[in-house]
Amino acid sequence: MTGITAAIRLAEAGHSVDLYEARDHLGGLSDAYSWDGLTWDRFYHVVLSTDERLLRLLRELGLADRIFWRQTKSGFFGDGRLASMSSIGDFLTFPFLSLWQKFRLGLGILLCIGIKDADKLDRLYVREWLMRVFGRRVYERIWDPLLRSKLGEARHQTSAAFIWATITRLHGARSGESKTEQMGHVRGGYATILAAIAGRLESLGVRVRIGAPVDAVEPSEGGEGRVKLRSGYGSESYDKVLLTVPAPAVLRITGRSVSDGPYWRALADAHYLGVLCLFVVLDRRLSPYYVTNLLDASLPFTGIIETTNIADTADFDGRHLVYLPKYVSADDPLLFEPDQAVTEALLAGLRKVHPELPAEAVLHTRLFRELHVQPLQEVSYLDQARGIQTPIHGIYLANSTMLYNSTLNNNAAIALAESAVEVMTDHKGAVHG
Ligand SMILES: Cc1cc2nc3c(=O)[nH]c(=O)nc-3n(C[C@H](O)[C@H](O)[C@H](O)COP(=O)(O)OP(=O)(O)OC[C@H]3O[C@@H](n4cnc5c(N)ncnc54)[C@H](O)[C@@H]3O)c2cc1C
Repeated sequence: MTGITAAIRLAEAGHSVDLYEARDHLGGLSDAYSWDGLTWDRFYHVVLSTDERLLRLLRELGLADRIFWRQTKSGFFGDGRLASMSSIGDFLTFPFLSLWQKFRLGLGILLCIGIKDADKLDRLYVREWLMRVFGRRVYERIWDPLLRSKLGEARHQTSAAFIWATITRLHGARSGESKTEQMGHVRGGYATILAAIAGRLESLGVRVRIGAPVDAVEPSEGGEGRVKLRSGYGSESYDKVLLTVPAPAVLRITGRSVSDGPYWRALADAHYLGVLCLFVVLDRRLSPYYVTNLLDASLPFTGIIETTNIADTADFDGRHLVYLPKYVSADDPLLFEPDQAVTEALLAGLRKVHPELPAEAVLHTRLFRELHVQPLQEVSYLDQARGIQTPIHGIYLANSTMLYNSTLNNNAAIALAESAVEVMTDHKGAVHG
């Protein structure tokens, strides 16, 4: 979405743009998967009413009337049972905390969303900060299991800005007048969005080169300030190149390493979480919740996402779509386990939460895995040198290592792409060089 958005904005400003994608289709982490007539996102996606840049892009793509909003519910699983956490009533009867602990939880969340400048959280460890704001007992009962299932051992290095970003984004889902949780998506999922994007790119004259992994970018020999790009399509020369790939690919493509200075060292030091995510099609509804958060750290996934609870069931032909994601460090051996072993472990975990689910209710599963998904915002992340303009003339960068104090989401990716275009065009719309 970062590369696509930058291509659209540059072409709209009148520039000639080529867009390279290694895979045989556009979309990256936002692409779609099809099974038996059901096409939906490979990884789950929601839109929030606070996703201003994304909503603007969707309107520009003519998709405004295809955005579907739904009031959603969240659940928690712990001590062998499920509990709703979707209303004030649920909060008061929430079984996993005492009345005093609930008061601390509510107060802590108010305090957290009141923080406008998250930069000061960059130097604080998430564990210490959460204990201070919510108290030890609430930390141990709620936050520690959630951090464990999302970050594993990496939670010990993560800064408080990570959890602040998560809490404030989720609070955004409650920002409407009703103060109930509302989430949206485009009918047909990202497949609809990507089809509209393909049309837009074509009408703007962007040359889309799919199946074209970029191998190298470097300053052209002989100067003139141009950049040479080598891909499966051969060599081309450009005024400017914007890289929108994860940090390891940036280092490989530019031929830079940790010893080439602080800018490259920051990229080499980026610690990514990867993801394993099981796409599960069921013949029945599992729960009323869009997200089931887990207080039981023995479960093999980070949460349960029941996408059909935010969608119109007619769009799924009576079937139900659930995702079981597991975030792991990019070097975790689990990321390289065979599909069958991971799938069985994830489904066994699902049966722990929903013992009533018979095996025949599972119509289809497909495991997806990605190595470099979300860079961890570790303590003192902001001390490192990062910027859209790389030290190499004519080469620019916009990737998720630059999403400070933010969760990984497409609204942030689009905002970053738009900033990159401003920098590339010198804020005046004219590419120089
Ligand atoms: C499990 C999960 C849940 C999510 N939930 C949400 C959500 O609810 N809401 C939301 O807004 N966002 C969500 N996201 C995040 C969203 O998918 C990402 O923000 C977005 O896809 C990131 O876009 P990107 O362009 O930065 O990176 P990517 O999508 O990773 O794109 C990078 C692209 O570069 C290509 N590439 C790599 N190397 C090369 C090369 N050498 N040459 C050419 N091309 C190359 C890749 O193939 C890929 O297409 C979720 C992501 C995951 C994984």
